[in-house]
Amino acid sequence: MVDRFHEECGVVGVFGHSEAANLAYLSLYALQHRGQESAGIVSAHEDVLLSHRGLGLVNEVFNEDIIRKLKGTAAIGHNRYSTAGKTLLKNTQPFVVEYGRGGLAVAHNGNLVNARELREHLEGQGSIFQSNVDTEVIMHLIAVSRGERVIDRIIAALAQVRGAYSLVFLTPRELIAARDPNGFRPLVLGRIEDKNAVVVASETCALDLIGAKYEREVEPGEVLRISDDGIESFRPFPSSPRTACVFEYIYFSRPDSRIYGRNVYEVRKEYGRQLAREQGVAADIVIPVPDSGVPAALGFAEESGLPFDMGLIRNHYVGRTFIEPRDNIRHFGVKVKLNAQADVLKGKRVVVVDDSIVRGTTSKKIVQMVRQAGATEVHMRISSPPTIGPCFYGVDTPTKEELIAHDNSVEAIRQFITADTLGYLSERGMFAFLKQGETNGFCAACFTGRYPVPVTDAGRKNQLVLFDVAEAG
Ligand code: AMP
Repeated sequence: MVDRFHEECGVVGVFGHSEAANLAYLSLYALQHRGQESAGIVSAHEDVLLSHRGLGLVNEVFNEDIIRKLKGTAAIGHNRYSTAGKTLLKNTQPFVVEYGRGGLAVAHNGNLVNARELREHLEGQGSIFQSNVDTEVIMHLIAVSRGERVIDRIIAALAQVRGAYSLVFLTPRELIAARDPNGFRPLVLGRIEDKNAVVVASETCALDLIGAKYEREVEPGEVLRISDDGIESFRPFPSSPRTACVFEYIYFSRPDSRIYGRNVYEVRKEYGRQLAREQGVAADIVIPVPDSGVPAALGFAEESGLPFDMGLIRNHYVGRTFIEPRDNIRHFGVKVKLNAQADVLKGKRVVVVDDSIVRGTTSKKIVQMVRQAGATEVHMRISSPPTIGPCFYGVDTPTKEELIAHDNSVEAIRQFITADTLGYLSERGMFAFLKQGETNGFCAACFTGRYPVPVTDAGRKNQLVLFDVAEAG
């Protein structure tokens, strides 16, 4: 069986708090949307690292007893997301290794584009890997790097990797955070003021939950060492143009987070307004595909003057259908997740707003459901441009061939999803609001096909890690 492997994840690090593991645990709850496949926490207690990792949601992996045993005043945590049908415990994070004085742990969000080459090179020198995840490559590079201090070795290792990483490392004495020079994935720094504790997290919604005040982003290319001596900032890498992932705004981040200095909800709402300006249509109501389409649908309704309504109701106890690996299950999953309300939709011309179309299967089901519930017209509006390319920097996307927009016109997609009309947000419209018309500063490769960090053939293959699940699991 072939499994796809991606590192779309949430990370957190806490330093200087007597309840460090508990705060990491709560943060992982806030970051659960970034990964539902596995969760783990490593804490630093005296001279050792204590760890617990497991498959499943945060509340399935941890309980009070486990959290109590994760003693210490520093901790890191990780939520992992993957499309894998069956998952292996050995691939869960944080990774912990015996190293130096008391061990080293790491949690990673992002995808390295040269992991395969580096791994082959390391294996040629005798390294033995225990997982399929590219994060382990970083650990091996650290092990063979020179340098007096752990931070020097980490910097030497990171100088060799290319691609996307937002990382938190833990030793018994320090927390180290690093963000790749392009700043692909988010990473923020906060402080719990009355305790003088420092928190690093993928998104600000984690800071809000644990009462930490947002201070700033960890800058692209910045490495932070957080210890009893305070926070030291290093800028060891040649600077690169910033290419932050725009898809965090469109779909991935939680709407209540501040990403790259902006509130995600506001960005999504503005995308909806812009979509209404670009792709307005005569209709009676605007409905979102919950939850991902809600802010954009509100913006669309506001701009177009049409009433906003909830024509689709979501069952919140079903995981994201997108992670189901097989087509027949995914089709079924849409129905499990969403139900159309005839009382709202009957006899109406309906605008349905969603954030993106990937394979097109979800949209097709939704259009059919809305029509079956009595809508006279169904107008699909998408608050991002057509998704034409896979992501090699850490967002889970299927192969190019599976992306419906890669070789189909908007009209062909409209026919496939059986909508009366279909309209996407333009690339210009997506950037108009963010950078006063500039595209500089963002990676939008999934919409443009322009990849800011070159991806070699080996890098592409690195997305497809093949292994036999039955044998390995
Ligand atoms: P599809 O049926 O493949 O077109 O899936 C489209 C749906 O998947 C949309 O409702 C999106 O909100 C959602 N989606 C888009 N990107 C992702 C992703 N990386 N992970 C999970 N869901 C996604």
